[in-house]
Amino acid sequence: MIRDISHISRHKFDILVVGGGINGAAIAYLGAENGLSVALIDKGDFASGTSSKSSKLLHGGIRYLENLEFGLVAESLKERYIQYKNAPHLIQPMPFIIPIYTGDPRSAWMVNAGVSIYEFLSGSKKLGERQKFSAQELLQKEPGLNPEGLKGGVLYYDAQMDDARLCLENILMADLRSAKVANYVEALSLVKENKKTAGVVAKDLLTGQIFEIRAKRVICALGPWTEKLFKEDRKYSKQHVRMTKGVHLVYKDSLSKNAIVIQTKSDRRIFFVIPWMGHTLIGTTDTDYQGSLDRVVCEADDLQYLLNETKRIFPNSHIEQKNVITTFAGLRPLVHAEGHPSKVSRKHEIETVASGVIYVMGGKYTTYRKIAEDSLKKFFYLKARLPLEYPLYGSGTPSQSFSEAVVKFGISEEKVHYLWGKYGARYLDVLEMTREDVSLKNEICECSPAIKAQVKYSIDVEMAQNPDDIINRRLGLVYIPCSSGKCKEYIRKCFQG
Ligand SMILES: Cc1cc2nc3c(=O)[nH]c(=O)nc-3n(C[C@H](O)[C@H](O)[C@H](O)COP(=O)(O)OP(=O)(O)OC[C@H]3O[C@@H](n4cnc5c(N)ncnc54)[C@H](O)[C@@H]3O)c2cc1C
Repeated sequence: MIRDISHISRHKFDILVVGGGINGAAIAYLGAENGLSVALIDKGDFASGTSSKSSKLLHGGIRYLENLEFGLVAESLKERYIQYKNAPHLIQPMPFIIPIYTGDPRSAWMVNAGVSIYEFLSGSKKLGERQKFSAQELLQKEPGLNPEGLKGGVLYYDAQMDDARLCLENILMADLRSAKVANYVEALSLVKENKKTAGVVAKDLLTGQIFEIRAKRVICALGPWTEKLFKEDRKYSKQHVRMTKGVHLVYKDSLSKNAIVIQTKSDRRIFFVIPWMGHTLIGTTDTDYQGSLDRVVCEADDLQYLLNETKRIFPNSHIEQKNVITTFAGLRPLVHAEGHPSKVSRKHEIETVASGVIYVMGGKYTTYRKIAEDSLKKFFYLKARLPLEYPLYGSGTPSQSFSEAVVKFGISEEKVHYLWGKYGARYLDVLEMTREDVSLKNEICECSPAIKAQVKYSIDVEMAQNPDDIINRRLGLVYIPCSSGKCKEYIRKCFQG
């Protein structure tokens, strides 16, 4: 991808998408796919907002059944399946177990009924069969679980994804369909002509250059930052987005083979303990938030809450704070509604204001394709209904089999599988780089299988601008413990030239 600010500042586009999280990325892709000329900007890196801070699940959201949101759950389950079929390298089915304990807020029959309805709503799009376990069977499957008061459990399937890379693949597809995309460009204000919005005043945060971007339509997919530009358009409007904070921690080593759904004692919430990159992702919290949008962090209380609840379910795993590899926190930009944060609907809303700007609010990562479609339909007749085929950058079968690639590039089969898991069919593009410089086949550090070619690919093809773009989002090294720090050192050097 080429970050062509000169082109973006000189041309008038059909649409300008502000925000390169998953919703903006998909709108840009779908718009360009439908023949519109599109520009997309983000004030940070693509997916650096909420779209890399999620629980990394494409899911129907079993707990929304309690709120009787059957439509939202059914739609999400359909989207989950379509995404999985199109991008199996980034999305994998994952078994979830709900252990049931004496005194849990939801009884065994409620949990069983919920899982049955969930499976029914999945219909032919389900990813695996539900199973029921006695306490003894469950302990054989998951020996780390607390046996005290355990009555049994239920297993069902959802899907796990790499949120940052899924977003990036939408951006790469937008670029492939001729959209002009640029990270680190901030929209400072709206440009108005005859009370209509004709573009934005933008700032290139890498050079300081200020310029206008002109477009027939501006679509804002700003996640938690929506209110800022929205207020400029409608000074006296009520609050549209309600922000709730969600915190995750990544714990060293694996606590379970399956994902475990924990019912909390204190507040009837549920949270997940999920296998993630050889370690364990634990989260999330759900609390109202009024602080800085640009500095959302895991506070000591959040961390303690997650560690305490995990200790209760895995008492023999010696859960200790020193084994926390990293924490991350994000904001749910929910359509404003009163009530307990966990009860606020995850449905999306798309609003066109008098000046013509379209604002995307709420939603789940899982339903991003539908959100993109609904946004474009606000002003544009889409050629066809949203197709079930939604190819992403790494979709499809590689032109060479894994075993052919092993011979051709002289690397191990494990390495080929690892690269396919990051780039899908495009893993061959990464390996092609090693033909000019064989040293690029070398691992960057002993902490992960990542090779030097991936760092070059991140910079040359995926528009990484600084080490964090690679460490946090392109390669996900932030989730892996590293004692030597060699990987970060190598990546830093690559930016120094
Ligand atoms: C803790 C947590 C867990 C979640 N887990 C899941 C899950 O497992 N599954 C699921 O389906 N959903 C989940 N969600 C919801 C999902 O992550 C969000 O719905 C989704 O990521 C929102 O994407 P977005 O593109 O709207 O916003 P964002 O990803 O926040 O993107 C908005 C972008 O706009 C940019 N921006 C802001 N202002 C400007 C400006 N002035 N100029 C240019 N750019 C600007 C920002 O830099 C940002 O990149 C979770 C959310 C949270 C918080």
